[in-house]
Amino acid sequence: DLKMHFPLTRGIVMQRVVGHVRAVDGITFSIERGQTLGLVGESGSGKTTIGRTIIRLYKPTAGQILFDNKDLATTEGEELRQMRRRVQMVFQDPYASLNPRFTIGSLIAEPMQVYRTGTPAEIRERVVELLQVVGLRPEYADRYPHEFSGGQRQRIAVARALSINPEFVVADEPVSALDVSVRAQVLNLLQRLQRQFHLTYLFVSHDLSVVRHVADRIAVMYLGKIMELADRDELYAAPKHPYTKALLSAVPIPDPKVEKKRQRIILSGDLPSPINIPSGCRFHTRCPMAQQICREIEPAFEAKEGREHYAACHFAEQVTPPVVKE
Ligand code: SF4
Repeated sequence: DLKMHFPLTRGIVMQRVVGHVRAVDGITFSIERGQTLGLVGESGSGKTTIGRTIIRLYKPTAGQILFDNKDLATTEGEELRQMRRRVQMVFQDPYASLNPRFTIGSLIAEPMQVYRTGTPAEIRERVVELLQVVGLRPEYADRYPHEFSGGQRQRIAVARALSINPEFVVADEPVSALDVSVRAQVLNLLQRLQRQFHLTYLFVSHDLSVVRHVADRIAVMYLGKIMELADRDELYAAPKHPYTKALLSAVPIPDPKVEKKRQRIILSGDLPSPINIPSGCRFHTRCPMAQQICREIEPAFEAKEGREHYAACHFAEQVTPPVVKE
């Protein structure tokens, strides 16, 4: 039941809180060790805030973040610092996440120096090893970020995140700032590293086709809440939430014959403001299936048909898979 609400203030000298941005508004999920949970949704749905809250860049407003039965939400001081060593993040924009004034070698070495994982010679050796692990040449250690392409920079960011042997990695849209041609390379790299180091991923993306490639399970977010959570193949074959169905109907199919016959669901209107969330089901202002009950009562997020397939919709059983017209 994790919540991250940001206060909205007014006034310069005497600041007063005039509302809250409910970026994450009571979400629950779990990730098995060694697995990948894909978190998808439109921009503004709160998925990046979840990633940042989990690694405690933000202190959550309420709820728990259980990591090996330890609650990261209430951990502070040296204990939090040591826990942070086990959770790392790869950021969206490799052009902004690497400090241009430092060489690649010092950027990768920095976390190891902060956590004092070895002598200067051992750290240098580890930098070389990490560059090789992510498919870059050891001599790149003396170069600066501006000398590299976007894909290479993201490899460097991954090497930096792995330098202190984390167990859990939040990958926040790690390929969306990259050219389409290099996306597959970085995705494949992340998957290879997951197998090699037995990593657990929370993979945040707005792109359903990217998430399908990497995730074991997928959670679909809308306006600070999870609308649906299921095994990847089941979610694609039999979505139970109208929002998931609409998102899936927008994923291009690389076959013109099938694409032409496909029924698309166009959602009306924009994402409502997270300051003023609609009553009842928060998706009702855009849902093609909305009825009176949807405006009044918030649907529970519950398992459907006794399986590990959760959806927050009063009419989940009536949602049919996306149609390809004959
Ligand atoms: Fe649509 Fe109602 Fe289901 Fe919400 S509860 S998704 S408004 S049908």
